[in-house]
Amino acid sequence: MKVALRDDDTSFFTDPARLEAVYSDVWSVIPVGLAVVPHAAGFADKAVPEKYWDAGRAFPLEENPPLVSALREHVKAGRVTIAQHGFTHEDFADGHEFQAAPDLESRLARGQAYLEGVLKTRIRVFVPPHNALSKRGLTAVSAAGLNVLGSFLSFRPSMRPWDVHTPGNWWRIRQYRGKTGRTKADRLVFPHVLRYRRHAALGCHGLKPGTTFDELKRGFDEARAAGGHFCLATHYWEVDLPLKGVLVRFLDYAASFPDVEFVAIERLFDR
Ligand SMILES: [Zn+2]
Repeated sequence: MKVALRDDDTSFFTDPARLEAVYSDVWSVIPVGLAVVPHAAGFADKAVPEKYWDAGRAFPLEENPPLVSALREHVKAGRVTIAQHGFTHEDFADGHEFQAAPDLESRLARGQAYLEGVLKTRIRVFVPPHNALSKRGLTAVSAAGLNVLGSFLSFRPSMRPWDVHTPGNWWRIRQYRGKTGRTKADRLVFPHVLRYRRHAALGCHGLKPGTTFDELKRGFDEARAAGGHFCLATHYWEVDLPLKGVLVRFLDYAASFPDVEFVAIERLFDR
């Protein structure tokens, strides 16, 4: 069983010391999959410091040299791997970036090339801002050959580009819902990788203020019983001491199973 850890929203606005404070005793045990925003927009948002709320522009990662050099070091040492998290992470009047941006194909391509060049690594995984991805967004991500890590992705076939694998995947989820006594309205993080023609997708369990160890344990135990994998997703900027306690307790619990392997998020998609 593979267990991976994902952290969203590293961007120009990130103080590398903050990542250090949250993960310095974690990333030697499990690599952290950092979902990084290439050109983060300054706008009123919880993840953006207030002094940038009226900036009216986007900030390329390189405008924060200490962060760039810290990330390069961490990548080189295998402490982190890098995923793409949108392009600007901005919101539009009618949705989040990868639902509503008019030019999302070019945002995807420019962002991927930018991160690969600046951080000297390859990008294999896309994490949509707010876990929101339109049909067009998914088409673009799939065409780029990137795998998708989300949280609770909609599997309504009408919401996805047509793919020969869509009906089979839809059926697997339907059966899983039935077997676990869930209705369509019940929350589900499907514990298996869903493979499509050009990409694969997996949902992550969220670790946010209020999440308890017991909730994570329940999700993990269910995935384990189903022969699946487990991805945990959080935001460094909301990890305080109690939440860090939940994270460490969960990792200790997962590590107590001899067949559990802590892997980089990219490896969740290995066959
Ligand atoms: Zn985000």
